Amino acid sequence: MSSTPGKNLGARTVAVHAGSRLSSLSEPISPAIHVAAVSYFDDAETLDGALDGKDFTYLRIAGQNAALLEEAIAALEGAEDCAVFPSGMAAIKAVFEAEKLQPGDVVVIPLDGYGASRSLMKALCAERGVTLHSVAFSSPGAAAKIQELKPKLVVAESMTNPLLSVADLPAIADACHAVGAVFMVDATFTSPALQKVLAQGADYAVQSTTKWINGHSDAAGGAVSGTRARIAPLKAARILHGAILGPFEAWLTLRGLRTLPLRMREHCANALALAERLSQSKLLERVLYPGLPSNPHHAVAKKMFGASSGSSGGGFGGMVAFEIRGAARPDGFKFLEAVKLAKPAPSLGDVATLVMHAASASARRMTPEERAAAGIGENLIRVSVGLEDPDDVADDLIQAVRTARGPR
Ligand SMILES: *Cc1c(COP(=O)(O)O)cnc(C)c1O
Repeated sequence: MSSTPGKNLGARTVAVHAGSRLSSLSEPISPAIHVAAVSYFDDAETLDGALDGKDFTYLRIAGQNAALLEEAIAALEGAEDCAVFPSGMAAIKAVFEAEKLQPGDVVVIPLDGYGASRSLMKALCAERGVTLHSVAFSSPGAAAKIQELKPKLVVAESMTNPLLSVADLPAIADACHAVGAVFMVDATFTSPALQKVLAQGADYAVQSTTKWINGHSDAAGGAVSGTRARIAPLKAARILHGAILGPFEAWLTLRGLRTLPLRMREHCANALALAERLSQSKLLERVLYPGLPSNPHHAVAKKMFGASSGSSGGGFGGMVAFEIRGAARPDGFKFLEAVKLAKPAPSLGDVATLVMHAASASARRMTPEERAAAGIGENLIRVSVGLEDPDDVADDLIQAVRTARGPR
């Protein structure tokens, strides 16, 4: 079933060429990992077309595993097309470059957004002489503020990090489009299984696939989805800039994506159960989870997630945050060392529960003043709820809070 090179070749030639090309009509259930960075064609016409991206000949132009992943993410997002990148940050940078911002342009970013992408966007705007404004998209005045600022590009997060506030995306999208702004939504925290942001008015849907889409913390990656017209320039620029996702990472991410809707349903159920248990603890000041009816974002989250957005489930995501009553940074660190089941890791979306001290991790690159303005205190812990039995997770976190506070 495999083609072997001719009979009279030397052993070195055979060693290099034998067993490199299958001739088979079978389709593997799990796609192959195409590690070849270069492919050739028997006819020059096809090679000529491949150099324009019509087939696979050079990994930086197009790669089989990346293309399969792009097809799957686009399908989940309800998008015409998708471009994948080696990280979420590379995906965000690619959108900024595609928008060709000029000196004097205005860009709006989330006030309580992910710290690392905020500092990337600040740097990119500073380089280009672009004016940057921060807006809390979940606040009532957000749409009016956008209309007043007349930005070129508006960047929001579907659910903010680490405070888990939820914006009314269709209202923000309307405000953007009324003043001709392009609207990019970083939907990493909800994933396309919970919220399809393109249908809610976003022009670009960005994902750090490192998180929920991969789901097993074994490959970094990023994705941008949108119309064919918006994604084509990103793919063309990627050929020149070289920010490509490797075959193995693309394969692992696609493998993780296969179970995204199933995992997300469980993560949502477990997060709600955990939030309810934590809400009963007197050792905690606030428990933040949009699925709790008492949460200020509950009503908007209900509109944005689940059935109304055409997604599965009706859940409120896998992220929970809480404040340890009276805790300072050393108590937060003690908490990280006291968990037995959860892992103190600065990421989210894994099958295991991950905990993080927000001020020193995801909000690390914000100044203390910025953190105060966003409402991120030293006592804030963020939890990415895993697939364990939710009572085991709750027991673990509550014992760790008790240890962190010590005898008082
Ligand atoms: C992690 C994350 C990013 C950055 O993605 P990387 O894959 O780490 O580069 C961007 N936005 C959000 C909301 C994230 O959580």
